Amino acid sequence: MKPLAIFGGTFDPVHLGHLRAAWEASELLDAEVCMMPARVPPHRPPTVADATARVALLRAALSGQDRLLLDERELGRDGPSYSIDTLAELRAEIGPQRPLILLLGADAFAGLASWHQWRRLFELAHIAVLTRPGGGSGALPGELAREVEPRRVAHGRQLAECAYGRVCGLSVTPIDISASEVRALLAAGRSPRYLVPDAVLEQPPLLAPYRVD
Ligand code: ATP
Repeated sequence: MKPLAIFGGTFDPVHLGHLRAAWEASELLDAEVCMMPARVPPHRPPTVADATARVALLRAALSGQDRLLLDERELGRDGPSYSIDTLAELRAEIGPQRPLILLLGADAFAGLASWHQWRRLFELAHIAVLTRPGGGSGALPGELAREVEPRRVAHGRQLAECAYGRVCGLSVTPIDISASEVRALLAAGRSPRYLVPDAVLEQPPLLAPYRVD
């Protein structure tokens, strides 16, 4: 049974850093990867584009391949989309045996201890931490380090050996692109070509919220 891996985010908008990291994670883990856009991000200011536009851009970005899937479940839920609720729902669907993996960029992982019920995440899923330039390269905060260190394994494939509870770093090609940078370019009237897939550029009406007139 292939692991199921979840790559959540605001995707405001999706860019090649997200997509390449998710792609390589899917290869390294031999996992089915679901991109999961968040509706109301609990840790973040509101998004610039609404959920409909963000998901439409993500769908366009994913067209033409079948390794990365789209899961819109958090968009249908009222209130904040807490990862713990999503993972509990997924665990109930896939049963107790199948490995479930939460994919996080190093920056997001470094902030994990501020997440809702973060220690319970390890009772539902593994966590795979993706290389991100400039993100989370320093030491982890103490309480996170204490929780994580005993759970660490060296190789991504070891996450397939049990259903949850392990942590692994995944070395993916470092790509220094952020959605903030893409938004700043669009707001300045410049093009994010080669930072986002062409399919995203081909959706001018969906990019309109990012442009400042
Ligand atoms: P923003 O600039 O608005 O903060 P972002 O580019 O960090 O956005 P998010 O949607 O917040 O994008 O990120 C979703 C997930 O993708 C997070 O786990 C984040 O760490 C990861 N991620 C984003 N960009 C990259 C990248 N270039 N390389 C690796 N992981 C990334």
